[in-house]
Amino acid sequence: MTERKPTAGTEASEAASQPHRVRERLTIRLFGREPLRALRIRRTLLGFVSYFTYLPALAVAVHLGWVRGGWASIALILLLVIVANTLFYALIRSGITERWPFSDPSLTAVQIATASLVILLLLAVLRRGTDLFLSLYFASFFFGVFQLKREEYLRVALFAILAFLTFFFWRLTAQGYPLRAVGKDAVSLLILVTLLVWISLMGGYVSTLREKNRRARAELEQALARIRELSVRDDLTGLWNRRHLREILEREIARIERRGNTEPDGLALAVLDIDNFKTINDTFGHGVGDEVLKAVAVRLETTLRRQDWIAHPGGSASSGDPEILASTVGRFGGDEFVLVLPETGERGAQACLERVFRAVADEPVATTAGPVRVSLSVGAACRRAGESSAQLFARADRALYRAKAAGRGCFFTDEASASET
Ligand code: GH3
Ligand code: MG
Repeated sequence: MTERKPTAGTEASEAASQPHRVRERLTIRLFGREPLRALRIRRTLLGFVSYFTYLPALAVAVHLGWVRGGWASIALILLLVIVANTLFYALIRSGITERWPFSDPSLTAVQIATASLVILLLLAVLRRGTDLFLSLYFASFFFGVFQLKREEYLRVALFAILAFLTFFFWRLTAQGYPLRAVGKDAVSLLILVTLLVWISLMGGYVSTLREKNRRARAELEQALARIRELSVRDDLTGLWNRRHLREILEREIARIERRGNTEPDGLALAVLDIDNFKTINDTFGHGVGDEVLKAVAVRLETTLRRQDWIAHPGGSASSGDPEILASTVGRFGGDEFVLVLPETGERGAQACLERVFRAVADEPVATTAGPVRVSLSVGAACRRAGESSAQLFARADRALYRAKAAGRGCFFTDEASASET
């Protein structure tokens, strides 16, 4: 085996992709692979970082002597923030919160409640400027917009207000109820209550809109998937329809052409038509005719799946190439079915068609009018280099006419003579 030396170009592109790969690995380590969980972790980290955006203001407050205990108090509060957020991160990252039936997996409400306690701690160590730092509540409550419904929002607001009330009375008790402080704190309290209730209602409204939007998008996606499915399926049998069969055929031919027609076994196509189907309809009625079509479809599909499994156990194609399609069956219209057999030469096609024949003809189809015997005529053709799907189809169709002309219940390939079953 010869060793392939990397070229300068590949070396350069590998070097360029190295940091990208490291970043990707780090992201997976930090956020995991589950997108929803990763989103929750991102929001938690965003909340965590938000605490630190107040550091410059706190630095000035410490400098002005507004903070009891100075930097030591701030450091303690930040330590608490770090511990609490590490815990939130661990709980969300491990997926434990997804298994708690009673809690929101993102822990949004818990995180906001924790933030409101942290704010209270900060207010407690502030000698002056408490009103200024009330805006912290606004910042922390904003995070609920991502997740909280109105009731949940109001519950967290109630918690924050009660906690603030406790703080309010504690401070008044400590200060001996000076009239000036009572008035000022009462205004702060009222502003806080108004602010929190307002943001809860507005935030709840926004998150409801988000939820509605999300649900509408999911419904639309589902509808689109359904429409896509309907556009490629035959509604009676559930097999691929004529349009999709053509697409499959074109795709497979394009793939073979891309590879320069080099594969030893190319593409085989077979057209199958039920013999004297009109008589079945006329004798038993259209409904029974439909039952026969459905039963034939099931037999064709099952036989193909089984044969694919025999030929390529564990994969869709013998070469293990994921680009190569598995054998496919569709209803072309009326009582006519089409098989597309990739990587199949004449012998392979013959073996496959024999199996298909037997699967349909050996056992009568059980219908509501009793058992009905069904036989097929089949025309098949193996694609020649450069041949279009229409040309291939025309040859298979010609072979089908020969099979019908030869008395039905047999198959012809365009290249060979009849193979009676
Ligand atoms: P041949 O052996 O030459 O094929 O004879 P045939 O009677 O099968 O003739 P042909 O294939 O031309 O007949 C197809 C018939 O299938 C005609 C039509 O009434 C019937 N048909 C087409 N679509 C449906 C369907 O969805 N359900 C039912 N029950 N019958 C259908
Ligand atoms: Mg027919």
